[in-house]
Amino acid sequence: MSQLDELYREVILDHYRNPRRRGTLSGDHLHAEGVNPSCGDEFSLDIEVRDGVVVDAAMQGQGCSISQASGSMMMNTIVGKSVSDVEDLTYKFKLMMSIEEGDNPVDPDRPGSVLGDLEALQGVRKFPVRIKCAGLAWSTLSDALQQAGQES
Ligand code: ZN
Repeated sequence: MSQLDELYREVILDHYRNPRRRGTLSGDHLHAEGVNPSCGDEFSLDIEVRDGVVVDAAMQGQGCSISQASGSMMMNTIVGKSVSDVEDLTYKFKLMMSIEEGDNPVDPDRPGSVLGDLEALQGVRKFPVRIKCAGLAWSTLSDALQQAGQES
């Protein structure tokens, strides 16, 4: 295992063991739930969107380390971002995971990429069955944001 793989593994395990933003929101919020039957992963999230910005987010879920770590990293990254930035991030994540067609936005020579910790998940591409695990949180997020679009 290369040093980089090892670092990525650490990041994923850390988010899996200590998920960020676990819980639910009590105020006005959007809610969505997703399942990945091929692995048995479950993920649900609450997000509060105010004036086009994600101001708070909380998640619940159970399943494999990839699905839960991806969710934890995602929740951590989206708070404070505008909905259009979150949609852009979702697109870039899907490109990185080859869920969408296009050039991988992750340039290993450029530090501080927009995806941050999420880049730890790019190794998952080598395991096509696990790509659905990594993408579960993101498709659930898209479902929640679609509700936001319908309300405005
Ligand atoms: Zn899974």
